[in-house]
Amino acid sequence: MTERSLLMIPGPINFDPAVLRVLSTPTLSHMSPSFAEIFREVLSNLRKVTFTENAQPLVLAGSGTLAMETALTNLIERGDEALAVDNGHFGARSAEILRSYGVKVDELRYRWGTAARPEDIREKLEQKSYKLVTVTHVDTSTGCRNDVEAIGSVVRDFDALLVVDGVCATAAEPERIDEWGIDVLITASQKALGVPPGLAIVFFSEVALEAYRARRNPVESYFVSLDRWLPIMRSYEEERALYFATPPVNLILALRRSLELILGEGMENVFARHGVVAEAFRSAVKALGLKMVPERDEYAANTMTAVYYPGGVEDGEFRGGMAERGVTVAGGLGTLKGKIFRVGHMGSVNAHDILATIGAMEATLEELGHNVEVGRGLAQAQKILNRM
Ligand code: PMP
Repeated sequence: MTERSLLMIPGPINFDPAVLRVLSTPTLSHMSPSFAEIFREVLSNLRKVTFTENAQPLVLAGSGTLAMETALTNLIERGDEALAVDNGHFGARSAEILRSYGVKVDELRYRWGTAARPEDIREKLEQKSYKLVTVTHVDTSTGCRNDVEAIGSVVRDFDALLVVDGVCATAAEPERIDEWGIDVLITASQKALGVPPGLAIVFFSEVALEAYRARRNPVESYFVSLDRWLPIMRSYEEERALYFATPPVNLILALRRSLELILGEGMENVFARHGVVAEAFRSAVKALGLKMVPERDEYAANTMTAVYYPGGVEDGEFRGGMAERGVTVAGGLGTLKGKIFRVGHMGSVNAHDILATIGAMEATLEELGHNVEVGRGLAQAQKILNRM
């Protein structure tokens, strides 16, 4: 790796230097008025990115999995019933977390490479009463996107909470918390939000907060309990510092900068840029004759793409060849390990990054003896990128 290398995995991403620079600025006291002002701005801008007036954002030190655990443990109690939509590695993780807290989980499983059908969720909710439904917006193991808007319109007809894992989607794929009826949105800093790993972010809607207040038993966690964090977040929103556990000050300063860049570009422009870059990448993959994990174009996410290796191309050799050309891509997860590579194209990604990635792919495939027409993917992608 050099400072000019490209980190094109589906998170952490290649961060904007303007955001990285903030990490090396002097750390503020978490109790200072200046930090309280910054934290207030961050909480307010997080609401703008996710189109919500009233959902309560929490920003904690931790990874996306801590955000998942925070969302779930505050809402469920032992013996509750939950429905987990599972069409990838992270859908299954939600079910695992729920089970580890004594929740009875029904999994609605789909073949990897496909998306959940909202009508199946309706059928399940008609058969049984569930406390909550979990769904992964974009599952990072497959690059498939679930239609959260359509799922939201189903779940709102029932007395169940909709918990969405947006770790690989927030700030790149539209997520309209209020309009779509998302009760809890889980996310993290290291993907399209554009900040190095370390921030777990969760939004609780007013309905979700009511469900938390109506609990019969205490939350089975000390650190992630809303009992601890709601007063803290509310206090910072009023620009008053309040202590429970030391916040990751510099990461929060970096998030302020990143949110400023995202909102400065404009959310609709951000979504459109992700759409064009993703389409350009997929069109190059197709032009090179490679097969993608999403079985249909409509399932394919705009934040990342998972691609099957063609016969004769070995995972380690391919990713090694890419790294030698200055581009890091990811391998597969679970049953797809060794069979696919994954490319992240989110956050501050631009046309140059994706062209460099496609160029490195063509050169590496040729070097490994795969029959490719070098330049074909690039030409195809360029046509689409010209729309930007
Ligand atoms: N959910 C999704 C969709 C993810 O992509 C990830 C991380 N790749 C997680 C949850 C877990 O996040 P973390 O690795 O930051 O704990």
